[in-house]
Amino acid sequence: MTLEYYEYEECGRVQNRIVECPLCGYKFSPREPRWEHFFDDHTPEDAGLTPLGTIPDDAGGGLWGDVPDSPEESAV
Ligand SMILES: [Zn+2]
Repeated sequence: MTLEYYEYEECGRVQNRIVECPLCGYKFSPREPRWEHFFDDHTPEDAGLTPLGTIPDDAGGGLWGDVPDSPEESAV
């Protein structure tokens, strides 16, 4: 398991904390900032993403096909 789950009964707050890197298995110390490991030791490609600064050819398109640009067009 790579996540710890905390629930603070006093305030009803729930928190998940990653305890092991899912990309390489590195075990975090309790107060270690997780972002530093990801920033220093990994690249976007490690997570199956495109390299930093690269825009995929299929990016920028609409999520759905024919979506009107304004609400007035859909009312017709
Ligand atoms: Zn890692």
